[in-house]
Amino acid sequence: MSASQLRQTRLLIIGSGPAGYTAAIYGARAALAPVLVQGLQPGGQLMITTDVENWPGDAHVLGPDLMARMEAQVRGLGVELVADVVASVDLSQRPFRAELDSGAVIRAESLVIATGATARWLGLPEEERLRGRGVSACATCDGFFFRGKEVVVVGGGNSAVEEALFLTNFAARVTLVHRRDHLRADRTNQARLFASPKVEVVWNAVVERLEATADGGSLAAVHVRDLPSGATRRLAADGLFVAIGHDPATGLFRGQVEMDADGYILTRPDSTATSVPGVFAAGDVRDKVFRQAVTSAGMGCMAALEAERFLAGHAAPVPLGAAA
Ligand SMILES: Cc1cc2nc3c(=O)[nH]c(=O)nc-3n(C[C@H](O)[C@H](O)[C@H](O)COP(=O)(O)OP(=O)(O)OC[C@H]3O[C@@H](n4cnc5c(N)ncnc54)[C@H](O)[C@@H]3O)c2cc1C
Repeated sequence: MSASQLRQTRLLIIGSGPAGYTAAIYGARAALAPVLVQGLQPGGQLMITTDVENWPGDAHVLGPDLMARMEAQVRGLGVELVADVVASVDLSQRPFRAELDSGAVIRAESLVIATGATARWLGLPEEERLRGRGVSACATCDGFFFRGKEVVVVGGGNSAVEEALFLTNFAARVTLVHRRDHLRADRTNQARLFASPKVEVVWNAVVERLEATADGGSLAAVHVRDLPSGATRRLAADGLFVAIGHDPATGLFRGQVEMDADGYILTRPDSTATSVPGVFAAGDVRDKVFRQAVTSAGMGCMAALEAERFLAGHAAPVPLGAAA
């Protein structure tokens, strides 16, 4: 391997969403000279949204603009940004080893995993085009835009019921569409849902088609198919919230750090420390509850500070410059 293909760093950060970039800011300011691998989606999930109105300090900002500013701040601090994807990692000993798609190898004394998660979508025609134009996977992020409007939520687990309940704070009417005849959500959530006069549940049904407004600019209705009868029904809807789960991007780390049954990385209480000393996890990759830019950024900060403390207590395992 040529020297140009081998990098060594005190802190490797995988992921360039709010968690990764915030870890980079704190890592750089702690003089750890971090290397950050951006992955296939530089800037992370906020790159695929438009309006963000809950990032402190910005009453309104476009997701891609916010992430461009974070990237500029990180570059300005001298962080090495690598436009590549981590293909495999070896966390069995320090320095940890990461191999990139390009074949380059990074050896790192500490690691922050900030690879995020992706929402599951229904896979319907028009769904992608209408994202941010009525179709969403995050009521906390977008519910506010649906004041006095009609919205449909798809799903039957706790997330779906929580999204539906949250949306009752804004929407005139919330219709929950679920493909079974009972919900998986816990009893308390179900009781709150059934008690809300704004909520109707459509059982044993699936969303079959999305209808856009005449100018094509936003969602107008969802077409729902009743599974037992096959009959379809049109529900006028300004918003569709898809709440059928998320997939954390943790395949790389399976078998190497402890995860829960859904593949989220487990961390110690009040900490981003994983089951592997020197490996920290921040953002949506370890959080199935809040899933926000600001909480991810907060965890990125924690992870870099914890990495700095870890490194202060652990000498470099091998002198930098030794062979990979
Ligand atoms: C449409 C939409 C709208 C949203 N709106 C809001 C909002 O208004 N307000 C809000 O607070 N939150 C919002 N969110 C949620 C918010 O975007 C996420 O909570 C946040 O981006 C999570 O940050 P993260 O850094 O943990 O991960 P992500 O943003 O998911 O970033 C993950 C990063 O990891 C990288 N990566 C993954 N695998 C690899 C690999 N193998 N090698 C290298 N890199 C890798 C990716 O390229 C990406 O850069 C929205 C989400 C979506 C999808």
